[in-house]
Amino acid sequence: MLIVKKFGGTSVADKERIFNVAKRCIEDYQKGNDVVVVLSAMGKMTDVLIEQAKEINPNPPKREMDMLFTTGEQTSVALMGMAMAALGVPAISLNAFQVQMHTTSVYGNARLKRIDSERILNELEQRKIVIVTGFQGIDKFDNYTTLGRGGSDTTAVALAAALNADACEIYTDVEGVYTADPRKVKNARKLKEITYDEMLELATLGAGVLHNRSVEMAKKYGVQLVVRSSLNSAEGTVVKEEVKMEKMLVSGVAADKDVARIALIGLKDEPGVAFRLFNHLARHNINVDMILQSVGRDNTKDISFTTNVDSADEAIEIIERHFKEYDRIDSEKNVAKVSIVGAGMMSNAGVAAKMFEALYDEGINIRMISTSEIRVTVLIDEKYVERAMNAVHDAFALGDA
Ligand code: ADP
Ligand code: ASP
Ligand code: MG
Repeated sequence: MLIVKKFGGTSVADKERIFNVAKRCIEDYQKGNDVVVVLSAMGKMTDVLIEQAKEINPNPPKREMDMLFTTGEQTSVALMGMAMAALGVPAISLNAFQVQMHTTSVYGNARLKRIDSERILNELEQRKIVIVTGFQGIDKFDNYTTLGRGGSDTTAVALAAALNADACEIYTDVEGVYTADPRKVKNARKLKEITYDEMLELATLGAGVLHNRSVEMAKKYGVQLVVRSSLNSAEGTVVKEEVKMEKMLVSGVAADKDVARIALIGLKDEPGVAFRLFNHLARHNINVDMILQSVGRDNTKDISFTTNVDSADEAIEIIERHFKEYDRIDSEKNVAKVSIVGAGMMSNAGVAAKMFEALYDEGINIRMISTSEIRVTVLIDEKYVERAMNAVHDAFALGDA
């Protein structure tokens, strides 16, 4: 068997944990498997690097930022190589350049395009454990890029697809995918399995346990994932195409605090206004999420929308510079999205109402709402996020199944 095993930052945070991971990998290796290990930077290293950069330049060039980021993952793979050598097992660490992991040139948010498997296969052929840097890539000019925060999961899935691996295991600091972040919702329950579609929604809506693009890629290439703990051997969560229906309306609750709301008041109520507004934003690569337009009255209307909090200032600047068709602009950053996700809600009325009732019972005001076939998202004041998550989670009795 060829097994890809990915370990996140907490799982390789110190010497003891590095040896713990090394031993888990060696166990599989000694059973005769080919083992490819993908690692993140140790502990909070990536955050530390951001702090260091900002001390030198509050607005660091994105290329240099990626150059700096890659050192984090490079440190952990080198140390892992040394740990395995100390345990007497042949291993080799490789970075994105040595493997040749090709990405687009969007620094800080690059997409994987192609991975050369030759070098890795050669090393495996020589019965070595291959340890690869997560998160990083190279563009066509040989610049280092990174895949976005949490991107090592995507590296692992991409490698599993490229190498046609028999298993792709994501080891982290919780025992699997839960019905909500177990650090925030006390009754959160571990799921045995979850579909790609539901996992993709949860990950996109703030469940940081998996990078959303890793789920997208797993679905595209049919890579079955197992999410489990690096610290114990508890059974994890399987992420796959279809699950034996536990017949749950809702499978999880997620929250995202990195949201800002921007409202434009007093727009003309005529064709083309929304087009011009969102076209300016799109041309500047500003991703817009929820959109709400009021009913026109006295020939005017309002439009509000959400963006990632990091893009909010830029979005406002673009609107002020290029789109002058409003009376007033209004924005706030202390808002958050809370979402419920579940394939079961597609054919069930009343799911949204039940969520709204739970929020009402807590006295939490809903600022915006958006829905898809398998999700309902509300925008609320950031300070109520954990209360809202717990209330909604309990309203659907997600902890009891
Ligand atoms: P790693 O460094 O291993 O990649 P992450 O911090 O990226 O770990 O992801 C694991 C964290 O995701 C957990 O510690 C947990 O707090 C958080 N999390 C958020 N939502 C969920 C969820 N639905 N199930 C499990 N963990 C979740
Ligand atoms: N080290 C990177 C980060 O902290 C990538 C990852 O952990 O997946 O975002
Ligand atoms: Mg992660």
